[in-house]
This record gives sequence, C-alpha cells and structure tokens, in this order.
Amino acid sequence: METFASFAYLIASVCFIMALRGLSSPETARQGLMFGMVGMGIAIITTLMLPIVASYFWILLCIAIGGSIGATIAHKIEMTALPQLVAAFHSLVGLAAVFVAVSAFYNPEAYHIGVFGDIHTGSLIEMSLGAAIGAVTFTGSIIAWGKLQGTISGKPVTFAGQHQLNAGLGLLMILLVILLCATNATFYMWAIIAVALALGILMIIPIGGADMPVIVSMLNSYSGWAAAGIGFTLQNNLLIITGALVGASGAILSYIMCKGMNRSFLNVLLGGFGGEQAAGGGGDTGDKNAKIGAADDAAYIMKNASSVIIVPGYGMAVAQAQHALREMADILKKEGVTVRYAIHPVAGRMPGHMNVLLAEANVPYDEVLELEDINRDFAQTDVVYVIGANDITNPAAKNDSTSPIYGMPVLDVEKSKTVLFVKRSLGSGYAGIDNPLFYQDHTLMLLGDAKKMTEDIVKALEE
Ligand code: NDP
Repeated sequence: METFASFAYLIASVCFIMALRGLSSPETARQGLMFGMVGMGIAIITTLMLPIVASYFWILLCIAIGGSIGATIAHKIEMTALPQLVAAFHSLVGLAAVFVAVSAFYNPEAYHIGVFGDIHTGSLIEMSLGAAIGAVTFTGSIIAWGKLQGTISGKPVTFAGQHQLNAGLGLLMILLVILLCATNATFYMWAIIAVALALGILMIIPIGGADMPVIVSMLNSYSGWAAAGIGFTLQNNLLIITGALVGASGAILSYIMCKGMNRSFLNVLLGGFGGEQAAGGGGDTGDKNAKIGAADDAAYIMKNASSVIIVPGYGMAVAQAQHALREMADILKKEGVTVRYAIHPVAGRMPGHMNVLLAEANVPYDEVLELEDINRDFAQTDVVYVIGANDITNPAAKNDSTSPIYGMPVLDVEKSKTVLFVKRSLGSGYAGIDNPLFYQDHTLMLLGDAKKMTEDIVKALEE
C-alpha cells in the first residue's frame, strides 16, 4: 500500500505542478484547473485508502459539511468579494495548521514522533514552525479580510517602534522554540502560538490603502508554508510538496506584485508597508472643473478615432460591464478602429481580476496587454476609455511624493489625445485620493454605472 500511495502522491504532485503551469496564462487556465481537480481527487482518494484511516464516518461527515459550505459560498460569492473570501479561506488553513500541531503535541504516539513530554526534537521544531506560521496566517488573514470587507478601517495603523516590536516578537518566537525543544513544556507551545497570533495582527494592521494586493498574495504564501509544516508533522509527502508549491508560488506572486507597486519585498515582510506615506493626499486637482459628457459624445469620439485603449478597473467588475465592453470593442473594430486593453497589475481587487473578467467575455488574449507592454503606446493613442478604474491611472503616483500611492507605476493614460472616464461620481478609488486627471482639458467624464454607460455607447454606435 505504501508504494502505491507514494506513486499516487507523485502523480498528484505532477498534476499540481501542471495546474500551476496552466494557471500562468488565461489561455491555459481552464486546463490548469482541470489538472488541479484531478490531482486533488487522487490525493483525497489515496489518503482515504491509507491504513492509518481508522474510521470513515467523521472524515466523510466533515467533508460533507465543509464541502457544502464551500460549494454554497462559491455559488453565491460576487466576483468583487473574492479577495476577502480568499483571505478568509487562508485564515482557515492557518487555523488547521495550529490544530494539527497542538493535537500532535498532546498525542505524539499517534504520529509516531515520541511520547508526551518526550517528543523527538526534529518533530518539535516542525510542529512549532507549523503552529507559528499557521497562527500568523490565521490572525493576519482575519485582519486582511476585515480591511478588504470594510469591517475594520482600511487605513494603516502605525505607532512608534512598530518594526522593532515585530522584530522583537520574531526573536522571542525563536527563543520559545528553542526552550520548547529543550524542555518539552506545554507552556512554551502555547506561548509560541500566542506570540504568533499577536504577530499576525501587528504585521497586517500597518498595511492599508493601495497596498493590500501584496498582502493577499503574501498570506497566500504563508498559508502554503503552514500547510507544508503540517505535512512534516503528519509525515505526508504530498502535503509537504503541495504546501511548498503554494508557498513558493505565493512568494513569487508577492514579488511580482511588489515590483508592480514599486515596493520593497523586505518592507512587506517587516509589516510596515505603505504606513509612512499613508497620510498624504492626491495630486493637484487644479480648479476642479470637470467636463461631463454623455454616451453619444463618447460614441462619436471613439468612432472617429484610429486607436482606442480600454483601461478596466474595479468599477468594471462591480458593474459586470465586461460583456457590454466587448460588444463596444467589436463594433469599433468593425469601424476600423484599433482596440486594445491595458491591464495594470493591481487593477481590481485581486491579482488577475481584470484578465479573468475579460476572458469570461471572450476578449481575444492578444488584445490584452500588461502595463509594461502598453504604457509607451498611450502617447500615440487617440482615445483611452477608462472604465471603473481610478488609482491605477492617477498621476499623483508619479508627481506627488506625499501621495499614498507615490512610486507605484501607473498607466500613462493622460498622454493620449482624449481620456474618457466612466464612473459614477468624481469620488476617489480604493486609496481614497483625488485623481487630478478628472479635471484636465482633454478628459471627458462619463458619469454613470459602467455597464449602463457602455450599453448606451453601444446603442449610439449602432445608430
Ligand atoms: P479603484 O478602486 O481605484 O477605482 C475604482 C473606481 O470604480 C472607483 O473610483 C469608483 O468610482 C468606480 N466604480 C465603482 N463602481 C462602479 C460602477 N458600478 N460603475 C462605474 N464605476 C464604478 O480601482 P482600480 O482598479 O483603479 O485600482 C485598484 C485599487 O485597488 C488599487 O488601489 C489597488 O492597490 C487596490 N487593491 C487591489 C487589489 C488587487 O489585488 N488587484 C487588492 C486590494 C486592493 P465611483 O464610486 O465614482 O463610481
């Protein structure tokens, strides 16, 4: 049975690697998901067949309860609420790691790692790391969920000596692990968990505004390492491999997001990310007179353009305007207008948010370009159609050093001849700052719901 299980786990691991590979491009993402599901199916069935499984009743009952809750949530969840859902799910992975570590600590015989009070040192290190990373992930993810959901303020909470306190708690945790290994004392196990729970909160509270995307991917990485930690405790190779895959891919994604935001990875890991700059405002909004236009104006301007770049943002996701948008692009293309889409790495509320929506509306992949591939083209573009995006276009990121988004690369939409902004008001975006672009001479504000406005433009184009 052991050889069969190892072989099946190997196949599942390969499936997970293929899943990650598939998910790296929208064209192969569906295939990637299929690999992921097959791999998980093999993993679950093989684990259920292991001789250590004494009774199926509780396992199947928990799978039924957890599966039903998961399926109901997945069915009901709005695309716009996915980031907080992901954060909430990460917290559960963290909690599971803590539970497994505690149960192994109190019942080591069941895991063949010694007896209570005399657990092998290697196992103590593994379980304390699993518990610590799990506890950090648990509270950190709950804070991230609260900030994204709006249950707690999204503003960074900072205080003097914050970095030093975090570093001190990190060192204290290492000391506690050493003491646990030396004494096997229950107190140290609980102390590690308590310090890690506090560290999770302290690491995430100073992060806010436009900096949350990095945190979502970073917690994703932590949850992977926590799972790998459980894998060592349970001596389950597949869990170690899967956890490491999630941990490493989350870390790589965090690095990519940091690059996209022009932030340092070390700052994020220390948990002081964006805190210092958060008090700043937006850019210079001049005399604050915005030109307000209508769907007919936008249709006329775009029909007479030779090139249009569409910049989607969070508002497009809220309005579910992607299908109307593709319809508009199709009509423009028929009129001989070159239409492309510009994707900012942190547009929307989760990595890849815009790509998923555009793929859902069957927008051709070759028309969808990343920031670094299209930013130079705005200067030669007639019209930019900014739909429900705000922060990712805000030039304050380039020229206002007091702005919370200062330093973040933004799409240079203002360099085009005309900028059309579709949003419901002149209000701010996620970072809570004014966008001076609304008040520029070559900007026309199209105030209204993104879907309704785009549908009206489609009608006007058809007429
Ligand atoms: P923003 O949040 O900056 O702007 C979105 C705009 O959409 C708002 O100003 C809002 O204006 C408008 N809007 C909302 N609903 C509608 C609607 N129904 N119709 C039309 N417009 C609408 O989004 P961006 O995509 O530009 O930038 C993303 C921001 O989110 C960045 O600050 C990023 O750091 C942050 N973030 C990103 C994450 C990620 O992983 N991608 C995760 C967490 C945060 P109005 O109310 O006037 O309509």
